[in-house]
Amino acid sequence: MLYEKILSILYPRRCPVCDKIVNVHEGKICSECRKKVPFIKEPRCRKCSKPLSRKEEEYCYDCRKTTHIYKRGIALVEHKGPVRKSIYKIKYNNKREYLDFYSEEIIKHYGHVIKKWNPDAIIPVPLHKKREIKRGYNQAALLAKKIGAAISVPVYEDILLRIRNTTPQKALSEKDRKKNVEKAFHIRENKVKLNRMIIVDDIYTTGSTIDACAKCLKSAGAEDIYFITISIGDGM
Ligand SMILES: [Zn+2]
Ligand SMILES: [Zn+2]
Repeated sequence: MLYEKILSILYPRRCPVCDKIVNVHEGKICSECRKKVPFIKEPRCRKCSKPLSRKEEEYCYDCRKTTHIYKRGIALVEHKGPVRKSIYKIKYNNKREYLDFYSEEIIKHYGHVIKKWNPDAIIPVPLHKKREIKRGYNQAALLAKKIGAAISVPVYEDILLRIRNTTPQKALSEKDRKKNVEKAFHIRENKVKLNRMIIVDDIYTTGSTIDACAKCLKSAGAEDIYFITISIGDGM
């Protein structure tokens, strides 16, 4: 406790949205910015969790026209406004500490749902080795470890590999996204015989990356694949 206090004086926690120093009693985000975070609420798609405009609908437009390989997934927030910038900084400005806020909120809101999935393992979406070396870390793996530690589920980083250094998805159209990731992943032998796995990534857009990973994991014998991401964007 004392050690943590000293640490917080030496390295005060910064708000994941405005980057100002957060008061200890505020937790991991300043109270002003907490109000601006676009947390996803009901009604939401029963497949991908994207917000729905009408509560009579069960699935979003994307999930009605696409047969996903994964079973179901959860995203914490909508990929817009302040959160969009915050995630950008996690990836490209070394703001890894922002992940503490997002992982804490994921567990707070969805810990009970995730436990019901009864996962055997958590698998972060891998970066290509070259990109990971350049960035110094894989943000999806860091998030996966925080979630895994909180719910006591092992995280395997060496089962799924990215064998092609693909163009970043954000630059591509939906059709091209699918093609871009189709052959990007490779699975090492599923020695431990994992059945239910959760894929973790930072952003979900059309689901093509998650589906490509899910396809790979299923080809090695996994049964049910779920996903967790920080944010979800408009796939169209
Ligand atoms: Zn703030
Ligand atoms: Zn959906």
